[in-house]
Amino acid sequence: MIDSTTTGNAPPAIRTRGLQMSYGTNRVLRGIDLEIARGEVVVLLGPNGAGKTTTVEILEGFRHPSAGSVEVLGADPADAGHAWRARVGIVLQSWRDHAKWRVRELLEYLGGFYVPYSGAVARPWPIDELLAAVGLADDADTPIGKLSGGRRRRLDVASGLIGRPELLFLDEPTAGFDPQARRDFHDLLASLSDLETTILMTTHDLDEAEKVASRILLLVDGGIIADGSPDTLRRQDFGKAEVRWFDGEQHLVHPTDDPVAFLRGLLTDPEATIEELEVRRNSLEDVYLKAVER
Ligand code: ADP
Repeated sequence: MIDSTTTGNAPPAIRTRGLQMSYGTNRVLRGIDLEIARGEVVVLLGPNGAGKTTTVEILEGFRHPSAGSVEVLGADPADAGHAWRARVGIVLQSWRDHAKWRVRELLEYLGGFYVPYSGAVARPWPIDELLAAVGLADDADTPIGKLSGGRRRRLDVASGLIGRPELLFLDEPTAGFDPQARRDFHDLLASLSDLETTILMTTHDLDEAEKVASRILLLVDGGIIADGSPDTLRRQDFGKAEVRWFDGEQHLVHPTDDPVAFLRGLLTDPEATIEELEVRRNSLEDVYLKAVER
């Protein structure tokens, strides 16, 4: 994880203090303190209704929080101007109304919004480079309506990237994907991490979070209850490791805090039958379910 104090004077990509949101009497965000450094790929993970979309919409400037402060790329998104918007990419829904446009046409059209204007440097991606980056080089002239679901989503990401944003928001980007399309999309995100674009993505899919995130924020009931890399979260004290083996007669399971010490003891008996030996660590799913139960 990048420490924002070591990245010079640039403000962090995102910083919130005491962020709260209520819809009427429904308190949806309960005081979120968050700092996301440049270049992080952060997944906001949580069950439905946890407040993920609300959080992202506040960070994008679509919603105003009830209390607390928000800074995105050094500005308050609620009243940041065009120059700020040009630095942020947002991927919402698919471009369902443009089925007859060709891929290149859509990207040229969107890139046209990033024309130079006074006081700002606009530098939309050259279309062919962008198409190559998202793996659509062969589809430049394909009508959008003919793209497969996975390729369509690549185009959505391309449209979020066209203005070369410093920060990209992806809201549930793989909802409705088949496994292959999902895997392709994860590969795409991995390749984007070289671009130094900070990414904040929401999902309720644990596998997905684990695959793409450099950092996971676990949001439950309007509060962040865990924050760290997938490995760090797995190692958190939400449960023990399990040593499993077959002793010739039955399958045994031994929960332990110290599997190495337990195995040293287990393996000292040369006569013992030990087959199918396995040490099972917490999966992120175990951590997630235990954290949500709490
Ligand atoms: P998530 O994205 O994690 O599923 P949301 O941010 O969409 O969570 O919703 C969090 C809570 O806020 C839910 O209880 C939802 O019903 C409520 N909520 C979301 N949007 C609105 C709205 N526009 N008006 C009233 N309540 C809302």
